[in-house]
Amino acid sequence: MIPLVDLRAQYLTIKEEIDAAISEVVESCQFVLGEKVEAFESDFARYCQTRHAVGVNSGTSALHLALLAAGIKPGDEVITVSYTFVASVAAICYTGARPILVDIDPHSCTMDPARIEAAITPRTKAIMPVHLYGNCADMDPILEIARRHDLIVIEDAAQAHGAEYNGKRAGCIGDLACFSFYPGKNLGAYGEAGAVVTNNGEYADVIRRLRDHGQSQKYYHDEVGYNYRMEGIQGAVLGVKLRHLDDWTAARRRHAATYRESLKDTGLRLLEEMPYNRSAYHIFPVFTPQRDNLVEHLKARGVSTGIHYPIPVHLQSGYRDLGYKLSDFPHTEQASNEVLSLPMYAELSSEAAAEVSDSIHHFCLQGVESRC
Ligand SMILES: *Cc1c(COP(=O)(O)O)cnc(C)c1O
Repeated sequence: MIPLVDLRAQYLTIKEEIDAAISEVVESCQFVLGEKVEAFESDFARYCQTRHAVGVNSGTSALHLALLAAGIKPGDEVITVSYTFVASVAAICYTGARPILVDIDPHSCTMDPARIEAAITPRTKAIMPVHLYGNCADMDPILEIARRHDLIVIEDAAQAHGAEYNGKRAGCIGDLACFSFYPGKNLGAYGEAGAVVTNNGEYADVIRRLRDHGQSQKYYHDEVGYNYRMEGIQGAVLGVKLRHLDDWTAARRRHAATYRESLKDTGLRLLEEMPYNRSAYHIFPVFTPQRDNLVEHLKARGVSTGIHYPIPVHLQSGYRDLGYKLSDFPHTEQASNEVLSLPMYAELSSEAAAEVSDSIHHFCLQGVESRC
């Protein structure tokens, strides 16, 4: 079976470095925060071209704290997309603010800047674009609207480690940006982890306090905070892996180029890489109304696939109270119905990538016309 991702294959390529780094944490007993986390924070800030990085215990916590640092509170509104992992919207709900959802541009599957202004009200405080699949949202028009309406921009960069927008790294474009290091992400911990990056020292200070129960010095709690601290072992693993990230991204980009070339006459719709983007290819999605049949066909031929994501947030039962309904966001709904993620990870062999493409050809090109 060709897997969707292969975390073990990656571990085997860096086993010695990882084992040594984990063992240092165990020897030092700095299990929570500590030197390895601090070292990773400064390396990751440099990587993202930002002044500060604050390590936390998940991408969801990173989003929650970024929103709190931005001053988001009950009664406020934050604009984001429905076509995302549910955490983007959940984090807004945690603050008591109301998520205002907008549709995507179907060519990029990221926030359509043309939809933003109609969603702005006197209560709007922030915009949270999501860099889905490793592709940055179109940030220039988003920033321009934000400046004009005095709104804070928080990038959800959980899928975009190392991606670039007009030559700038994902994470240094908005006011704050949030990363997830969930194991399957492009930069993945060996457990849960996340980070907020920003150039704003005040935001960074607030986030450092809030991740550690609001304490400024030991046992002095200036406000009610959270236990969102990063673990030492995660900092150690991430520090090792960050050194390999650019090589892994380059490998993902080679696999993407192979897929593009071999799938171009299948009738499947692929996402273009926008001129402003250098994608990190967290996911390689294809789109077809025949999605569910294609999944079965590929499974029978030993190819695993994923669906990111089958139900958009505005149609999730847990989010019914937001008041949205079917057909509110047509591009989002169509993409959710048609999207399929192909195997994508740095260690994917060219033989495996060829096998995926062959199996897709076999399905799509059975008649005279493509059935995809
Ligand atoms: C993974 C992800 C998150 C949440 O990160 P966790 O580390 O799983 O909490 C948020 N937003 C997006 C777009 C994600 O892909």
